[in-house]
Amino acid sequence: MRGIPDLAEVEAMDAADPLRALRDRFVLPEGVIYLDGNSLGAASINVFNEIEKSAKQEWARDLIRAWNTAGWFDMPVQLGDRLGRLIGAAPGQTVVCDTTSINIYKVLHAALAIRPERPTIVAEGDSFPTDLYMAEGVASTRPGTVLRLEGVDAPAIEDLIDDHVAVILVNHVNYKSGRLRDMAALTRKAHDAGALIVWDLCHTAGALPVDLDGSNADFAIGCTYKYLNGGPGAPAFIYAATRHHPDISQPLSGWWGHARPFAFEQGYAAGSGIRRFLCGTQPVLSMRALKGALDLWDEVDMTAVREKSVALTDLFIRLVEARCGAFGLELESPRDGAERGSQVSFAHPHGYQVMRALIERGVIGDFRAPSTVRFGFTPLYVGYRDVWNAVEVLEDILRTGAWQEARYAIKEAVT
Ligand SMILES: *Cc1c(COP(=O)(O)O)cnc(C)c1O
Repeated sequence: MRGIPDLAEVEAMDAADPLRALRDRFVLPEGVIYLDGNSLGAASINVFNEIEKSAKQEWARDLIRAWNTAGWFDMPVQLGDRLGRLIGAAPGQTVVCDTTSINIYKVLHAALAIRPERPTIVAEGDSFPTDLYMAEGVASTRPGTVLRLEGVDAPAIEDLIDDHVAVILVNHVNYKSGRLRDMAALTRKAHDAGALIVWDLCHTAGALPVDLDGSNADFAIGCTYKYLNGGPGAPAFIYAATRHHPDISQPLSGWWGHARPFAFEQGYAAGSGIRRFLCGTQPVLSMRALKGALDLWDEVDMTAVREKSVALTDLFIRLVEARCGAFGLELESPRDGAERGSQVSFAHPHGYQVMRALIERGVIGDFRAPSTVRFGFTPLYVGYRDVWNAVEVLEDILRTGAWQEARYAIKEAVT
């Protein structure tokens, strides 16, 4: 292994970075090193422009006509296709709508309806909790449904896959550790047992390339306000492979999913294709913000994003271990970049206080109970010098014990 890079080497990495110019397209406060793009991506000039245009011109001037004249009505499908490029989905299979939690509800119902003779949903015990809460909610509406969890009912998800399983809901990148799963291999394993698979791409979309079509995935869901930078509460997405479209049914059968929404018929008749996952009127201003974010993504090569992401996270791990290793931090993320998403987590017994002290000094990451300090690296606006500077601050906080100040122990509502 090479030695620890010095500042000159780190600056040379920035100078050679092909994505460097994109940083100027984002609006970040002076003095902040933002390492929480895995929770809420940063604002961009593109997004502000779309919000302003959609509010001040389309809404204020065109009023109700804007549904047609500004293409508002078609946005869920159009933006879905554009997002599809980033997740390996050919057009017609991705739709932008609702929230990830709601989309999990719809997609699990759809999968269970396609495998009506099978009672079991498999998920991960250490999943982001809303995925499990929604699976519980789905099970509560379907008597006889069983929820089996990795880490609870068996050590590995593979051990839970048998011919009782209708659907597996699994994260591509774990929200806490950043561990990456092999999408093609697990999908094959599910299909060999006759089960369907739903990939949660919340920590994948915009963080690393993924090939849903090439992996033969059945369904996927994910959010757009993390690495995709769509803005707080930006609508989420659903992917469904074309082969399933004729069989998709889901219980949130609102008029936007109807075959003829403006015929105002009395009974529900499902529309065709991916539109079946739509429910009701979508948040247009948030959709337009996401459109601005996707305009920027159209300029970005996902392979370059992945290369820089691995280099940033590698650099962070090496610098933290070299300079802060004596202060009780323990790496929770895979050391091998090929097994890691775009984030790095360390455990620290006083992780909450350490993170509060970091944030006060302008290094913004986040904390996940009980002891994880988590740092997300967004290659579009984080550089190598940012990594260097963040580690300098972290080292200082740990060396001086600055995190021990009493005010850092007071818990805030959102961590
Ligand atoms: C961020 C995240 C969510 C968020 O769900 P919302 O409905 O948008 O609140 C869900 N699942 C995972 C795995 C996440 O990382």
